[in-house]
Amino acid sequence: MERDIYDEDHEAFRDLVKDFIKRHVTNEAIERWNAEGEIDRATMLAAGEAGLIGLSVPEEFGGAGMLQDYRFRTVVMEETIAAGAGSLAGALGIQDDLAVPYLVHMGTQEQKAKWLPRMATGEIIGALAMTEPGAGSDLRGIKTTAKKVDGGYLVNGSKTFISSGATADILVTFVKTGEGNRPDAFSLVLVESGMEGFEHGKKLHKMGFQGHDTAELSFTDVFVPDENLVGGKEGLGFVQLMMNLPLERLSIAVAGAAAAQAGYDWTVAYAKDREAFGERIIDFQNTRFQIADMSATVDALWAYVDRALLAYKDGKLSAEEAAKVKFWATEREWEVLDAGVQLHGGYGYITEYPIARAFLDARVHRIYGGTNEIMRDIVSRQIAGKR
Ligand SMILES: Cc1cc2nc3c(=O)[nH]c(=O)nc-3n(C[C@H](O)[C@H](O)[C@H](O)COP(=O)(O)OP(=O)(O)OC[C@H]3O[C@@H](n4cnc5c(N)ncnc54)[C@H](O)[C@@H]3O)c2cc1C
Repeated sequence: MERDIYDEDHEAFRDLVKDFIKRHVTNEAIERWNAEGEIDRATMLAAGEAGLIGLSVPEEFGGAGMLQDYRFRTVVMEETIAAGAGSLAGALGIQDDLAVPYLVHMGTQEQKAKWLPRMATGEIIGALAMTEPGAGSDLRGIKTTAKKVDGGYLVNGSKTFISSGATADILVTFVKTGEGNRPDAFSLVLVESGMEGFEHGKKLHKMGFQGHDTAELSFTDVFVPDENLVGGKEGLGFVQLMMNLPLERLSIAVAGAAAAQAGYDWTVAYAKDREAFGERIIDFQNTRFQIADMSATVDALWAYVDRALLAYKDGKLSAEEAAKVKFWATEREWEVLDAGVQLHGGYGYITEYPIARAFLDARVHRIYGGTNEIMRDIVSRQIAGKR
């Protein structure tokens, strides 16, 4: 089914992204990222130079000024995932969807001026550090504290599962600045790589997204100056996280739809090419039926995700609607990629093939950004009229 959410500006931007991919997303680069467990800085800088980063950063701070129009980010996601570079899609997504928004929408003027121009070029890599060994879904259970001292805060604690955590220069870090677990007991502070007492821990070995780093972090009496308190006011951290949730969830839904689309396209091409019993795989009725199902699912995915993209652009995507599209899209993604792996036979299990990598990457879409169980809880609580 033809999609109709893009105009000529988006398509012109797509050409630019494709050109970047032609130059920088080679099989050799993908293998290198996977071997090193991170996207190298040169690639991030090249992405910045090509205009693929900082899409929501206002023009005055060196960005593209797209603020609420997530369609440009969707183009980046579609093209990088279709190129078999899910890890690059992930790294660009962390920068633009999880780190940059806290400065664009919630930073002070000084914070914006200090960080955004270099985040838009890829010179400064950002990350969002919320999860801890003992608190993921239940974020109010975090133990990392930021104690007020003269001129700033002393941060103590640890974080885990932080995407871009090994390579990030600046980490939007969720900390406790108050007692108890009321929403106003939390703040977001900007921890900078190199601050005394701050350590990027080890990179975690994951089943998917092999080329994008995920790491532990530790904080021992890290002095964070007052000027690094996001928004310049204490006690706003929980509300700030809530404000970015629709975007975070939408971005995962988009990644899911883009991966399902890519998986479908790879599978159709493969099934037309591969032969068994003297016939093309696609000539078997089972294959055709599977592909028909995949095709319908991909159409439905885009219809729903595109609707959410437009709602977001108009400022109308609620946290609940974003939760709904996140769990639904990532589960359809899983079905499509699973069928795609099956139709690739043994090759579907070999990570040299993009279908295998996309399948492994997809598994975490149902876990991070809030697990799909938590998404269902949010949606059903609202329906039930429960707080
Ligand atoms: C590759 C990767 C990248 C990540 N990137 C980041 C990042 O950049 N920044 C960051 O801060 N975090 C990140 N995370 C962390 C991620 O968001 C959490 O892992 C996720 O929110 C789940 O938290 P948890 O692992 O503590 O699981 P738990 O919260 O311990 O959940 C375990 C199980 O219990 C279920 N469960 C929990 N509570 C409920 C409930 N109320 N009702 C029903 N079921 C429930 C969950 O759904 C899950 O199935 C990342 C994780 C991974 C794996």
